Formats: sequence, C-alpha cells, structure tokens
Amino acid sequence: GVLPGWEAVEAHVVAAYERSRTRAGGAVADYIPILAAADPELFGVCVAEVNGEVHSAGDAEVGFSIQSISKAFVYALVCEELGHEVVHERVGVNNTGLAFNSVVAIELNDGHPMNPMVNAGALATTALMPGRTPELQWEAVRDGLSRFAGRSLQLDTVVYESEAATNQRNRAIAALLESYGRIQRDPSEIVDVYTKQCALRVSARDLAVMGATLADGGVNPVTGEQVVSAAVCRDTLAVMAANGLYERSGEWLFEIGLPGKSGVAGGIVTIAPGKAGIGVFSPLLDVAGNSVRGQRATAYLSRALGLNIFASD
Ligand code: GLU
Repeated sequence: GVLPGWEAVEAHVVAAYERSRTRAGGAVADYIPILAAADPELFGVCVAEVNGEVHSAGDAEVGFSIQSISKAFVYALVCEELGHEVVHERVGVNNTGLAFNSVVAIELNDGHPMNPMVNAGALATTALMPGRTPELQWEAVRDGLSRFAGRSLQLDTVVYESEAATNQRNRAIAALLESYGRIQRDPSEIVDVYTKQCALRVSARDLAVMGATLADGGVNPVTGEQVVSAAVCRDTLAVMAANGLYERSGEWLFEIGLPGKSGVAGGIVTIAPGKAGIGVFSPLLDVAGNSVRGQRATAYLSRALGLNIFASD
C-alpha cells in the first residue's frame, strides 16, 4: 500500500483525534446566524485511502454544512465540462491576499473573479455549471458532489434558509460580476444555487471520501466510479494548494504541505495525491475561518503519515 498498514493508519487517526481534542481557542462562525448555534465540542477525524479503506475517530459521521469546501468540487465538475483553458480564463487561479468575500479584490482586478476558492470566483464557477435553469444547475451540483461522496447528499434546509436571508454580500458580489460581464446568467439565481451548494450536508467521512476521489485521479475509491478525469484532479488540487485556506493558504502549505479546502461550518478536506483524502470537522474557527482542531489534526496526520508533497524522503 501507499500508506503504512491498516493498523498503523488506524492508530494515527486515533492519535490525531486525541492530541487535537483539547480546547485551543477559536470561535464558531456567526455571520450566518444558524452556524452560531453549532456545538463547539463536536470533533471528527477521518482518513479514506485510495484503496477504499476508511479510518475514523470521534464525530466523523455527524452532519454539517459543507460551505466553502463545495467550491473545490463544483470547480472540478466545471473543469470536467469546459476544460483547462476556458476555466483558467473565466475564473482564474491566483490568490487575492484578501478575505474570501472581498469586493475590493474584484475592483482591484478589473472585475476578474481571481480564483474559484473565493466567493467571486465560486459564483462565477457555479454560473458555468451545466443546466438550462437554476433548478437543473442545482441538481447537477448535488448529483456531482454526491458522486464524489459515494452517497446521495441532501440540502440542510435550515442552514440554507438562514444563509439565504443574510447573504446580501454575496448578492452584491454577483451583481458586481454581472456589471463587469463576468457572469452571463441572472445573478440572483446564481447566488441561490451557490447558497444551496454551501448548505449541502456532509460528514467528516464524506469529506475524506470526496478528497480520496481527487487523490485517486477522479475515481471514487469506495464506489469505483470515475467522477472526473485525472487531469481535472491535477488542476483542482493546484488551485486548492494556492487558495484553499483563505488568507492562511501560504501558512497551511508551509506547515502541512498538502492541498486542502476549509469551510466556515468547521470542515476541512485535505488531499494526499495518490494516497488518501482526509476529512476533519470541528466548528471552532481561527480568525481566517479555518477549524482550529481540524488544522491541528491534519498537521499531525501529514507528519505522522509522511504526506507532505514537498518532502523528498
Ligand atoms: N456560504 C458561505 C459564504 O458564501 C461560505 C463561506 C465559507 O465557508 O468560507 O459566505
């Protein structure tokens, strides 16, 4: 195998959970009202290997909204549909150095959405999803992310309604992109599909399997389905490495050395190409919006399993 034997990986996942469990600060997100009600004690860790073996510790089956982690997988679906060049030109790949929901970043770049991991780029990406109507686009998003997870993912309607009532900033970003000719569809419809995509309910285990699919050249190691091509996985992982952890993307790559994507509900997905996907969940976030326990557990696993892509030994 590409990782140590089953028992060793199992022990490392439990150790990652135990060592990262103690409180080390952070706060639940509160700009989406319902997220402020999350249980701060929840914590789950899961590793899914490309051979289909899955290792879990703690609350790895507890559901939460995928939030920004959806951006990486919707991006992969759009890359599969439209190809490398079109997506590069329309959505971009470069880091903004600014907050994920920055309007300034759009203005500073002549209306370009910059990259698919910030809200502007994610909205531009969702606008490119196949489907004549917003309903068909949403179905394509839900179906595509379900294929990554290997099971049918469902909308968390409470989270969706909470965010839909408070997402004025995303509506402003979409309208701004439309004014620059960067999205061709009705911006309020795109925001609605995007808000639903962020409210899909997943577990740390789902994230691990979704990540393992990107690690495995697009083949879901549990179901065996080819969800996207290997070339699409390569492109998606590059964009995640550059932009996946908000303004802390550089520090994340420096400490952990793997592509990842976080979300404000407390999930993080991390990919060890050719080896495994890691899914973690804990709602307490640092100031950039990244799960505190999730970062610690992932850092431990990267070191213990020797996953850093920049290491030569
Ligand atoms: N739905 C959230 C938003 O657009 C996602 C934010 C995140 O996870 O970073 O504000």
